[in-house]
Amino acid sequence: MKYFDNSATTKISEKSLASYINATEQYFNPSSLYQPSSHTKSIIETIREYFLKFLHADKNSTIIFTGCATEGNNSVLSNCIIRKDKKYIFSAGEHSSIYVPAKKFLEAGFNVIFVPLKENGSIDEEKLLQEIDDNVAFVSIIHVSNETGAINDIETLTKKIKAINPNILVHSDGVQALGKLDINLKHLGVDFYTISAHKINGPKGIGALYIAHPNKFKPFLIGGEQEMSLRAGTENFPAIVAFKTALSDLKIHDYSKHKQAILNELKVDFVLVSQNECVDNIISLCFKNVRGETILHMLEAKGYLIGTGSSCNSKAKFNRVLANIVSNEYLSGAVRISFGSEITIDDCTKLGIELNNAVTEYIKRIK
Ligand code: PLP
Repeated sequence: MKYFDNSATTKISEKSLASYINATEQYFNPSSLYQPSSHTKSIIETIREYFLKFLHADKNSTIIFTGCATEGNNSVLSNCIIRKDKKYIFSAGEHSSIYVPAKKFLEAGFNVIFVPLKENGSIDEEKLLQEIDDNVAFVSIIHVSNETGAINDIETLTKKIKAINPNILVHSDGVQALGKLDINLKHLGVDFYTISAHKINGPKGIGALYIAHPNKFKPFLIGGEQEMSLRAGTENFPAIVAFKTALSDLKIHDYSKHKQAILNELKVDFVLVSQNECVDNIISLCFKNVRGETILHMLEAKGYLIGTGSSCNSKAKFNRVLANIVSNEYLSGAVRISFGSEITIDDCTKLGIELNNAVTEYIKRIK
């Protein structure tokens, strides 16, 4: 099987796995008072410093290790959405771990606004800035779309938002940006930033949340003093170690030739959603009057694993992010292909041929 769904998750690297297994030997609870425990605790603190440096974090900021990016995203919303007389703004392209809780706040009577996307998949900046006023408390804009690969220019947007109202707290979900873009949190100027290990060849079940002003942060998980009392729960020491190994091994790859090799083989009718201002490890394609799910299974039978969009939404009836971008006749025909370092250009050419064959056969069948 050739794996082309690296935006859903990645295979843990040998190095990350080895460091995980090795760290399980140090099974002591980092909060206990004996030396082996304080040793694990001090390793966690060294790793925290490494992350802060790697991400160019502001001084006085911190990161906390979380169980996943979903937890990080949920924690940010529970910290920032408090008053019903304030306004809360989201891009329409947020991952479901932001979108679903934001919808719940809306249903509970909070003033929640979703700003639409442009055709290239990034947030409509003009419409966003029209919404920003003295009453806005919080804005969340995904850094790189998990559906389309579209990049939002967080640095510029944060500057413009804070120039209008410096009290607004800005969050960005960086899960799909880590390892694809150089991340400099000082430049981005955000108050919160979320990342996850399993998208960068690290283990599943470990994420991190950047918090620019930890003294104002209220823990989402309570009942313990771990993570500087910002996140209760015994630290997942092996996963934290393995996340650091994956992070220190990160290389930004150029997949533009891979992407082109697939596109070269497609003779059928489709919309290329991932065009300019996109990371090149994701291609989102929408075929006309086709069911993406059927194409996925046809390719699986040929030995290729691809996605139909975000795997967190794979059971949804329609793709709410792509609905901002493509017309109805293309919407059900969405497929998402995402590369990892083991994929060759030759693999991409072969996938492109099989994809073209599958769509052609599908169209023939339904005629
Ligand atoms: N945010 C984005 C953009 C994602 O792609 C994902 C994973 O699919 C998440 C958040 C959730 O990450 P996790 O699986 O660590 O909860």
